[in-house]
Amino acid sequence: MIKLNRRIAAIKPSATMAAEARATELKAAGVDIISLAAGEPDFDTPERIKNAARRALADGMTHYTPVGGTAALKEAIRVKLKRDNQLDYEPAEILASAGGKQAEANVIAALFDEGDEVIIPTPAWVSFVAMVNLSGAEAKLVHCSEENGFLLDPDRLREAITPRTRGIILNSPSNPTGAVFSSEQLSALARILLEAGIWVMSDDVYEHIVYDGAVAHIFQVEPRLKARGIVFNSLSKAYAMTGWRIGFAAGPREAIAAATRLQSQNSGNPNSITQAAAIEALTGPQGEIHTMMAEFRARRELVVERVRRLDGFRLPNVPQGAFYVFPNISALIGASLGGTKVTDGNSLAELILNEAHVALVGGNDFDAPDHVRMSYATSIANLNQAFDRIERLLQRLKR
Ligand code: PMP
Repeated sequence: MIKLNRRIAAIKPSATMAAEARATELKAAGVDIISLAAGEPDFDTPERIKNAARRALADGMTHYTPVGGTAALKEAIRVKLKRDNQLDYEPAEILASAGGKQAEANVIAALFDEGDEVIIPTPAWVSFVAMVNLSGAEAKLVHCSEENGFLLDPDRLREAITPRTRGIILNSPSNPTGAVFSSEQLSALARILLEAGIWVMSDDVYEHIVYDGAVAHIFQVEPRLKARGIVFNSLSKAYAMTGWRIGFAAGPREAIAAATRLQSQNSGNPNSITQAAAIEALTGPQGEIHTMMAEFRARRELVVERVRRLDGFRLPNVPQGAFYVFPNISALIGASLGGTKVTDGNSLAELILNEAHVALVGGNDFDAPDHVRMSYATSIANLNQAFDRIERLLQRLKR
């Protein structure tokens, strides 16, 4: 046995990436898999963005840039934060990284320490816990009930805060639940957070993928939180740029400077060509998102209807944002097929993968073992076929 760093040894592979990797592996082996596992739009990156990258390459923008992004990219991010979120930031308060993930990991590593607690309302995206644990801090999971639409209840928040609490990570619209906070709900949380004086991190990665009106921002609802507030965002979902790896953080100068120092030592600048493409994405015409949304809307309707028809799946809340459904599958626990028994969301996902050749992500690593996550970032034809397959499998289960 090789002795590893204690914190790294405790890290599991990202459950969403592992599910997608397993689907890719089976496809490569010739199995006809339909994947509802990936957290990425199936759309191609818009042409105007690709063209900006082609120009950057032709112009020889192939060198190191400043670690936290070029001045032009930071300016584009500043403009975006003002235009979309009505938030004012200066370039020194912005860090661009290789994906939202890297920006989040670096800021979290810079801010927290052993002995600190960081609150994560769950079900939550799988990487938040790992990032907090890597910093040495303790992730304090606060489970949000399905009855409450998976939204953090202010009383539960108040109970979770201790003298050691140093931060909280909010994510609205949420991966995996699709839950979206209203401004009234944010305002109730903001009052408590302001009094607690802890870091408030807002992961806005799905901000444009909302089905009813615009999403409210907690720093807009309570501007005083911004003094201890961090915005995280990414171009992955809004501009179909997952593979390009570009995202950013914005927050108080000292926090951003510390995260930038970390980035200077462990990776350096995000890809220079990607940065040029990102400027075009953020500042060019913003029409593509509406085209994508029309498609996501149609898919959501189909998926909600089909999930609700699946025997043993329950979906009380229609997701208000993102491109996932997170149905409750507790009615299937104890059911079996051959020698395989369903014990939780992960085992059901495995059974569905092996027997129906549809890839999903089990809910266990989202802190919701009674659930599975299904992404509808795939075509209507694929979705219909995937649900046909799952339907047939469920008929074969012994209950
Ligand atoms: N936050 C959330 C909630 C996400 O779902 C994702 C992507 N799955 C990210 C951050 C990071 O995205 P990226 O690193 O591609 O920018």
